[in-house]
Amino acid sequence: MIAAALVSTETARAQFSLPTLGDGSDITTSEERRLGDRIIRQLYRDPDYIDDAILNEYVQSIFLPLVKTARERGELSAELDERFAWEILLGRDRTVNAFALPGGYFGVHLGLIGVVTTRDELASVLAHELSHVTQRHISRLMAQQGRQTPLMLGAMVLGALAASKSPDAGQAMIMGGQALAVQNQLNFSRDMEREADRIGYGLMSPAGFAPQGFVSMFDKLQQANRINDNGSWPYLRSHPLTTQRIADMHSRIPSGAAAAPGPTLDHAMMAARARVLMRPGVDVWRQWVAEPRGAGFAAQPAARRAAGWYAAALSALQLQDFTDARAALPGLQEAVQGNAPAVRQAQLLAAEIELAAGQADAALQSLPASTPAADAKAPLDVAAVMGGGAGAARMPRPEMVLRTQALLRKGQAGEMAGPLQSWVATHPRDAGAWQLLAAVWQQQKQALRAVRAEAEVQVARYDYAAAVDRFKAGQDLARRSGAAGADYIEASIIDTRLRTVESLLKEQAAER
Ligand SMILES: [Zn+2]
Repeated sequence: MIAAALVSTETARAQFSLPTLGDGSDITTSEERRLGDRIIRQLYRDPDYIDDAILNEYVQSIFLPLVKTARERGELSAELDERFAWEILLGRDRTVNAFALPGGYFGVHLGLIGVVTTRDELASVLAHELSHVTQRHISRLMAQQGRQTPLMLGAMVLGALAASKSPDAGQAMIMGGQALAVQNQLNFSRDMEREADRIGYGLMSPAGFAPQGFVSMFDKLQQANRINDNGSWPYLRSHPLTTQRIADMHSRIPSGAAAAPGPTLDHAMMAARARVLMRPGVDVWRQWVAEPRGAGFAAQPAARRAAGWYAAALSALQLQDFTDARAALPGLQEAVQGNAPAVRQAQLLAAEIELAAGQADAALQSLPASTPAADAKAPLDVAAVMGGGAGAARMPRPEMVLRTQALLRKGQAGEMAGPLQSWVATHPRDAGAWQLLAAVWQQQKQALRAVRAEAEVQVARYDYAAAVDRFKAGQDLARRSGAAGADYIEASIIDTRLRTVESLLKEQAAER
């Protein structure tokens, strides 16, 4: 398969007589990572980019076991493992899409999370995209683009993404044929698609997912294909379901294999969350608030009821109707009873509602039990188990975020400085966590530390110019506060970080 894909790359090179990048080899992992950094720096500024602690954690809990399995099966080389980001960015878009970007970044639209019926189906898409990256398909495509500068390559990828996001053809027309042409150039070959299916399928069982998720996802795509392709399924356009792909997939499933497992309660809730957060409009939110009160709802299966109540509460929250949001919680609690992951999601939602309603104490009481102290023994979070290593923060990120927000409101967020610091020590690229830490330091009147955390927010988003500004503001602050109030350790950290980031900025400017 790899050989076949290589041949097709070679053929493409010969056909279009494209020169390859540099000395004729594929781009290096560091080049590809830097290109990815450049691309996602723009994506972070996209108004559709969403840092939702709860959905992020859910998607990570599916993605990280797949990465771990790829590592264990030798699909993921040590070099790639270390150099690449392995980060998923969520987009608010209603269109059904997921894509791999250079450097180990992945994009997932809420539209996809909203339509998948089980976590296995979502895992099948992520496993496929992950395999494009572990098999270096992207670097091969990039190499095919010849001597384009990273700036041009980045612009091409962003152009293709913008074109694929547009749900109606009209907008695509405005973007012009150019973007669509670019998109076609960046599409993987059929051999690459088949390889990503095969390798991705192999990750499913060992990572703890039902491989039938691949089949039911294919069925779903096929169904959507049959109904129409009005542009709301860009994933179908970049992943045409050839008869060969379907035949390959069916040959993998042993005959007489059990049917795919049904949706878990927490998956149904997370899909509902995605549907609400993709902003379907006020009328749809109102409809979802009313739905659980409709006839026949009580007779629905538990997953359906959990999703219905969850969507009702969260939709009411979007409408700023805290009474309706709270009124949906007992129904939700009843539907999820006895199912630990679903109970936790219901508690997180309750805390979110109370926080939005300005009830910090009620929010803290609603949060799932977890230990606030950084050194306390508590269950490890997914990221710590899978990638963060020893010493990672002990509180799961959604709890940490909601708890900090509630305590900030009470003016008592000091206790969260420790957990947040251990978190960013193992997740230095978590801009949202740095942002919270900055707010905590501000409240603690630790101005210098607050400024440094603000600078780290910009570093995490690859905005080195903005970071340099903040670090310099920190130096000024340290100078002005004089010997008496100086925080020498923090000041010297700022000096060191400023030098590092200044050189990163120079590198960034040189890559044209
Ligand atoms: Zn693909």
